[in-house]
Amino acid sequence: MTRLGYPSVMGEQPDGPLFFTGDDPMSVTADLLNTIDLLATPADRLTEQRHLRLFLEGHGYPARPVRTGDLGTVSRLREQLRAVWQADDLAIAADRLNSLLTRHRPVPRLRLGPDGADVEFGDRSAPVRAMIDDVLGALLQELAAHGTARLGTCVGDPCRCVFLDRSRNRARRYCCEICTNRAAAAAFRRREREARRSR
Ligand SMILES: [Zn+2]
Repeated sequence: MTRLGYPSVMGEQPDGPLFFTGDDPMSVTADLLNTIDLLATPADRLTEQRHLRLFLEGHGYPARPVRTGDLGTVSRLREQLRAVWQADDLAIAADRLNSLLTRHRPVPRLRLGPDGADVEFGDRSAPVRAMIDDVLGALLQELAAHGTARLGTCVGDPCRCVFLDRSRNRARRYCCEICTNRAAAAAFRRREREARRSR
């Protein structure tokens, strides 16, 4: 199964794979939201501690310690982040993100690298905490730099997977090749039906 912008499957599990697009914080955010995949069975791929460990590990965080309660925190946050990602406008997105920032208080740091200084979020002492700080920090920077313009949601009904639209004209509509091909096949069938009717 190839997914556009989804270079690899990070964990083949008996109950289905987890996908991963990269370990930069915006990819982590999108991948976290897409752990609910309405085209998969079961749709929710993050229902056990081991799923969370796999998710952390696949995105470059240590898989331990994951504490009781972390899974609940992460799945609650997933829905709150979705409400930011799919907000109708920037004012609503900002409002929702600001209350998450107040609640979780991600700590920014200045990280010096070979190419200069960069902002990094995340208390690295606990992986779940680090991931939460990273995704909130990433969304903060994303909304400040681009508003909601790049926060895409797949239109390949019933799929509701999200993607970061890096295309120049912001014209991307589908989360992956599967949905692009499904939509093309559906359009083809529709045209066939219409052609038959008009014969
Ligand atoms: Zn899709």
